[in-house]
Amino acid sequence: MTIEKAKETFLSAVRRISALDAAGNLLAWDQRTIAPPKGLNGRAQVLGAVSAEAFRIKTSPEYREALDRLKGEALDPVFERMAFVARRAFDRDAKIPADVYEKFVVDAQISEAAWGDAKRSDDYGMYAPHLQRMIDYARRFADLWGYAAHPYDAMLDGYESGLTVKDVDGVFGRLRADMVALLREVPRIPALRPAAVPVEKQREIGLYLLAKTGYDLDAGNLYATEHPFSVGIHAGDVRVTTHYRESDPVSSIFSVLHEGGHGMYDQNLGPELRDTNLDDGASMGIHESQSRFWENIIGRSYAFWDTHFATVNRLAGGGLASDARAWYRGVNRVKPSLIRTEADELTYNLHIIIRYELEKEIAAGNLNAGALRDAWNDRYREYLGVQAEKDGEGILQDIHWSDASFGYFPTYSLGNLYAAQFAHALEKELGSLDALIGSESGLGKIGGWLKENIQRYGALEEPGDILVRVTGEGLNASYLTTYLRGKLLAL
Ligand code: ZN
Repeated sequence: MTIEKAKETFLSAVRRISALDAAGNLLAWDQRTIAPPKGLNGRAQVLGAVSAEAFRIKTSPEYREALDRLKGEALDPVFERMAFVARRAFDRDAKIPADVYEKFVVDAQISEAAWGDAKRSDDYGMYAPHLQRMIDYARRFADLWGYAAHPYDAMLDGYESGLTVKDVDGVFGRLRADMVALLREVPRIPALRPAAVPVEKQREIGLYLLAKTGYDLDAGNLYATEHPFSVGIHAGDVRVTTHYRESDPVSSIFSVLHEGGHGMYDQNLGPELRDTNLDDGASMGIHESQSRFWENIIGRSYAFWDTHFATVNRLAGGGLASDARAWYRGVNRVKPSLIRTEADELTYNLHIIIRYELEKEIAAGNLNAGALRDAWNDRYREYLGVQAEKDGEGILQDIHWSDASFGYFPTYSLGNLYAAQFAHALEKELGSLDALIGSESGLGKIGGWLKENIQRYGALEEPGDILVRVTGEGLNASYLTTYLRGKLLAL
């Protein structure tokens, strides 16, 4: 194959994969938002066919030959990065024998269904054999992928490339000590008791917040779903979703700010990355940093609510809280709890560190499904002082392990850490965040800074390189601790 032919083959494959991914994303969005219940099975089959076609292209002999031919050739930087990213994914996939992978996909679906049944009946025992099978797959895959120091490195690498146990141990060790200490010092604050807000009014609030934070409503929209997500379909169409509970308007307000943060990342990807395999976030952790930035650092600041509470409260019908200060304190209330997804900004990280420590033991072969529930409960007692009465609010609460997604959880806390570190860098350049948030054009300047420094680069750079370029140093837990101490101790 000539080099010109290899380039052409590679580019045409990347364009087709990108178009099929867009179709798949649109179908998945439809399935999780507006598709009628009777259409779900048919829709799932269509979606399966679209994904299978993308997989076929990615594993085809011509694609492989083109990647082989491009190796070591002098290419322009964007093209070189595209080929590198494609090669890395290809090599990782190719290490798993096709028959093993096919069996894994089937077993993972059975395991996920068993997890759902077990969660509904609060019975970990029903699910444990399936989980053990997923643990066995994950360990086998880690061995096939290969690693230098720890088998968990191979799992982490699938979500945050280049991240190792050595890095995370250092950062999470420090973070755990800081969070446990801070938890003892934070003031006790009564829970917010907002009045119920009808769904249509919550949607109006969501649209208001999206517009104010800089999400482009001409390049996306807000929809309702069960588990909120955002999805970039293609340039100019990035959709966000939320879940409405009339009795809990706080939940939707912060999930809109969170998903809007993800959505703006996708809206702000550089136009030169369109139709390439770099038209995406740099990593799960960097993507999460953008959502946490808008949800927490901006969206849970007093400066933000000092400006926007009156409007949001009026849109809600007047019953959110007595005033901006009461609302601000309520939405920052810290209280150890059992459920990760409902945790406050501080204890959330402890929920993640518990999962990280357990996953590391699982990967190393020191912990199996039979002993996992006790290990889980012990750590919850030790770090958070809470004890699950039912498996559904303990070890069965998350879906992630049911399809062997070991290595995924740490990226949530990485998002918090990156966000605080980016915020520090932003303040060094643009001045105080509070002053910016409270000023007329401040939110626009913040959004512009995130776009220019992080978002427009898409997947052109490795997550660790972005962090060093933007903040001048590697991952450092002290920024998150300083930010949380400053805010929470003053509540
Ligand atoms: Zn997120």
